[in-house]
Amino acid sequence: MTDPIIKFDNVVKRFGELTVLDKLNFEVNRGEKVSIIGPSGSGKSTVLRILMTLESINGGVVTVAGEPLWHERGPDGSLVPASEAHLRKMRAQLGMVFQQFNLFPHMTVLRNITEAPTKVLGLSKKDAKDRAEELLELVGLADQAQKYPHQLSGGQQQRVGIARALAMRPNVLLFDEPTSALDPELVGEVLNVIGKLAEEHDLTILLVTHEMRFAREISDRVCFFDQGRIREEGAPEDLFTDPNEERTREFLKAVL
Ligand code: ADP
Ligand code: MG
Repeated sequence: MTDPIIKFDNVVKRFGELTVLDKLNFEVNRGEKVSIIGPSGSGKSTVLRILMTLESINGGVVTVAGEPLWHERGPDGSLVPASEAHLRKMRAQLGMVFQQFNLFPHMTVLRNITEAPTKVLGLSKKDAKDRAEELLELVGLADQAQKYPHQLSGGQQQRVGIARALAMRPNVLLFDEPTSALDPELVGEVLNVIGKLAEEHDLTILLVTHEMRFAREISDRVCFFDQGRIREEGAPEDLFTDPNEERTREFLKAVL
């Protein structure tokens, strides 16, 4: 087995007086599909935001593909604060799909997808467009390329969000409650796309979700977060049917 692609080692994250991650230890292996479940405020989004370097940490170490996120090796091998170039390189390995889609409202669907590959990866317009068209096909939106986000349903917008994340060819896809802003009848189309991606052997998926049935279907492992720690984790068939912890049992009873 190779090293985990994501590793949180005793990670502490505070907002003022509030300790959100309390010496969190957490790993995801390459190609693994992991779901994070747990009550609101337990630190789930914070984990993803730290990985995207949208939040810093107060203690411990986060590594992606074996390299520390907030530090890099200096010339003598010791760790020094990360340069912007290092952060960019680390970020490029991860793609994130947000709860509120976060599309650029003034750009067409196509441009939403081609923007980062041309600006950040330096892809030619033609290559970025070809790739975007493939991805729109994959998420079932081949005919919507010239629309603006406000002309699409929430489910379609979120599928654009997924295509946009994939356009950067990330090794890891992070999903933060990707269906919780959607009307119930639009949830299925987004879950179908994620389910299709989950069949890809090489892609690592880390999914924060309230969709317990879906988490059970696609995950190799489910982690129950509570108060900034993993209270319990395991294979979905064990965790959902016969949890060890009373706290997990209570949570599942409330949401299932
Ligand atoms: P979850 O995604 O599990 O609902 P979050 O990771 O979003 O939880 O938040 C964990 C805790 O941190 C919550 O109590 C939240 O209010 C707090 N929090 C999150 N972001 C900030 C912030 N930028 N400033 C202050 N408190 C925050
Ligand atoms: Mg959250």
